[in-house]
Amino acid sequence: MSDDAAPTDFVREKIRADNASGKYANRVQTRFPPEPNGYLHIGHAKSICLNFGIAKDFDGTCKLRFDDTNPETEDQDYVDGIIEDVRWLGFEPDDIIYASDYFEQLYDWAMQLVERGLAYVDDQDAETISEQRGGFTTPGINSPFRDRTPEENSLLFAGMRNGDFADGEKVLRAKIDMNHENMQMRDPVMYRIRREHHVRTGTDWIIFPTYDWAHGQSDAIEGVTHSICTLEFDSHRPLYDWCLEQLELPREKPEQTEFARLNLTHTITSKRKLKTLVDDGIVDGWDDPRMPTIRGLRRRGYPASAIRAFMDHIGVSKANSTHDIELLESFIRTELNTSALRRMAVLRPIKVVITNWPDGQVDMREAVNNPEDSSAGTRQVPFSGELWIEQDDFKLDPPPKYFRLTLGREVRLRAGYFITANDVVTNEAGEVVEVHCTYDPETAGGQAPDGRKVKATIHWVSADTAVDATVHLYERLFNDAHPGAGNSDIMSSLNPHSRETVHAKLEPALADVDPGQVVQFERLGYFAADSSDPTVFHRTVGLKDEWANIVKRQKQGSK
Ligand code: ATP
Ligand code: MG
Repeated sequence: MSDDAAPTDFVREKIRADNASGKYANRVQTRFPPEPNGYLHIGHAKSICLNFGIAKDFDGTCKLRFDDTNPETEDQDYVDGIIEDVRWLGFEPDDIIYASDYFEQLYDWAMQLVERGLAYVDDQDAETISEQRGGFTTPGINSPFRDRTPEENSLLFAGMRNGDFADGEKVLRAKIDMNHENMQMRDPVMYRIRREHHVRTGTDWIIFPTYDWAHGQSDAIEGVTHSICTLEFDSHRPLYDWCLEQLELPREKPEQTEFARLNLTHTITSKRKLKTLVDDGIVDGWDDPRMPTIRGLRRRGYPASAIRAFMDHIGVSKANSTHDIELLESFIRTELNTSALRRMAVLRPIKVVITNWPDGQVDMREAVNNPEDSSAGTRQVPFSGELWIEQDDFKLDPPPKYFRLTLGREVRLRAGYFITANDVVTNEAGEVVEVHCTYDPETAGGQAPDGRKVKATIHWVSADTAVDATVHLYERLFNDAHPGAGNSDIMSSLNPHSRETVHAKLEPALADVDPGQVVQFERLGYFAADSSDPTVFHRTVGLKDEWANIVKRQKQGSK
């Protein structure tokens, strides 16, 4: 894409300005830097689209860098899963790299700071250090260890690395200013001791750099030009710059730019909180289709292209806001409307017996595969004297304005015939178990030759060739629009009815779906065949455009 055609936002504007001034000699390099302590969620997709999208727009590069500096929470499964998710979203990293590969360099640089009196070893515990940091209106307190000599500090720092001290016994801190107006600059911790097995470095290292010491330095080592992160790192930027300014770098320093994170209503975008849902068994795993994880959404049938289109649409800004989940869903629906084949499925079946149907006869009815795409063609759907229809599509005592099947009423069976209900069979509890109907053989094309009209068209599945399936119907996982807002407990907002499972009857063509394929069950919504068991379907999204209703209400409200 040329510069002119690229979508624009303040980050891209900054890059254009840097290119115009020759700051990085027209080089554009970004990175996506997840910590492998969980799987990616929809919020990460925004960062991925931005970082990889910029590299594409400016003929630059974007690497996937694992920020693996906290061994206690990190895992190889997360590393593998994150790589898979980034690729599924449609991006190929220019390289896959690890902050842990830089541990030696980071240590050398830290030692340089120690030797120049810019860092010191502190013997105080984390709590004391935190208390001494002061507040926005109160100055910090110098550590009693702040004035150790560079000689003493370099011996102690080397000792930290070599295992002379217990975990937590000592930390390395940058020596900046305990009265700095920015709290991040009050002698931040650079290294802590953790005897934890690290996924990549094993037991080679027992000291680990903090985010602040690892991130900017990793950017610099790789030659990142634009280090893009979310707004909460705004206050870290002076520290990011300070750390880099202390080093002699072969190139122009990378620069941090912050953008607003993605928030969605009814959705949690925090790996830590999502992990709680998995660990507590609230969901079936990270790929539970109710999860806003990339793997959950994929399993649910969200197309990667629709996620990217949504990210393009909402753009990138400098102010935090929350988007309606219905907007994301409308992008999913729009995409599936053009791509998904139509099929018939009955989720809550009730039997229809066509009493005047010739015994044993099976008709093949032609049905359109996708009215939005004529190249999708048609298929043959078997029709016989015993059919399944939705329980909802028949009522013994119809409410007002109910136009579907009821005794004495005629309706159209989609791609089938007109039928009229005449009688019912009930069980001992008085529930209808069979509806006896007659069909009009003259209505095979869906029209009556005498021009008489019906008010409803319902879907159906022929009973003897029906395919049995398990269908999961999903609702919001959280009832509250803003779960966890104001530090409320996210668990109190859980929707106990977020998943309903039904045993459905499907038309025979649905036996041939590919794992993961999304189809439209006519009149019901879009459903994805499970990736490992195609007799299981997940409701991706319903057919009703709830976003259109929200927009309408907003317009009415602003009048
Ligand atoms: P979490 O709190 O979910 O663990 P994180 O920011 O700690 O999120 P990282 O793995 O460190 O997760 O994030 C990798 C990158 O993704 C970072 O640059 C981060 O800023 C970005 N990111 C994380 N969450 C969002 C979000 N909701 N919207 C946009 N970008 C995000
Ligand atoms: Mg993080």
